Amino acid sequence: MQFITPSYYNAFHCIADKCTDNCCIGWEIGIDSDTAAYYRSLGGDFGRRLCDNIAEDDTFILQGERCPFLNEKNLCDIIIHCGDGHLCQICRDHPRYFEWYGNVKEGGIGLSCEEGARLILSTDRVALLESQTDEQEDEIDEDLFHFLCASRKQIFDLLDRADMPVADKLCTVLSFAEKLQFMMDNPQTDDDFVPTVCTKNDISVGALVNLFSAFEPIDAVWTSALQKMQTQLPTEFSALLKQEEHYIINLCRYFLWRYFLKGVFDGEILSKVRFAVVSPLIIRLLCGEDRSFASWLENSKLYSKQMEYSDENRELFCEYTYEKECLATPYLQEFVKTVAAG
Ligand code: SF4
Repeated sequence: MQFITPSYYNAFHCIADKCTDNCCIGWEIGIDSDTAAYYRSLGGDFGRRLCDNIAEDDTFILQGERCPFLNEKNLCDIIIHCGDGHLCQICRDHPRYFEWYGNVKEGGIGLSCEEGARLILSTDRVALLESQTDEQEDEIDEDLFHFLCASRKQIFDLLDRADMPVADKLCTVLSFAEKLQFMMDNPQTDDDFVPTVCTKNDISVGALVNLFSAFEPIDAVWTSALQKMQTQLPTEFSALLKQEEHYIINLCRYFLWRYFLKGVFDGEILSKVRFAVVSPLIIRLLCGEDRSFASWLENSKLYSKQMEYSDENRELFCEYTYEKECLATPYLQEFVKTVAAG
């Protein structure tokens, strides 16, 4: 099987004690069934401790927000007692993510990780690395997969263009996605695609920003960042800094890399593209007046934890794509032109 990743995948190393986060704090950790069975089969004091700290649904029973095996030196007691070969799948992989498409496996590094976010924001025009992996193929719709791969490549080529303002690139991507979805929904039709037309001219950035209040907050940090963004929303947006243009394109590319091809499973790409366009701009708004790299890094992680690593919130965004006027293409294009004016 072919294994494809962005070039920064191999450059990733956990920065451990230099990280301001700890991924063993604040997350529910599900244990894969093989590892849970292994943990339950261990005898002795440590085996008993494992059994006492695994819930019936095979998750670790957190102590406050902490994994029960994160010791006072912030080291993992499971690695200390059993070696890192006996970590559960999530702990082994995180922050790497993978998806399997027939004889192709794609992977990357998640934006919620501090070092991952640094690599994603700062790597322009990402090259792809290809290798082989010995895994079993699944069946997929090959025609649709090739169509989606070619479409994603077209979008990436567009994002890489040096002769086009960021706002124009993102608006073009939004229109293109609508057309792609029409082609996927109507494979046999001879009808021409008719783009959605804007019926209002008083597009409000606030309407889209306020939509984010409807998502279940992951923690108090998100709630306060969201409130700050909403209350300090400028009436006039200043032009993007040169480096911010890169951050936006790099983030958009990350979201497309991670989600676009999943359309092969559900026949739906519109919400995935809208998510990829809206997310970098919401991160820009979360940064407010602090437009430093550190602020982009912090807000990218925060947004990712809130919107990417919550299945409910991702699904709700997908539903809203088809329900909420402020997520329709023409409205989003106005949002893009307002927030990403170069
Ligand atoms: S967030 Fe990333 S860099 Fe920080 S501890 Fe976790 S894996 Fe390491």
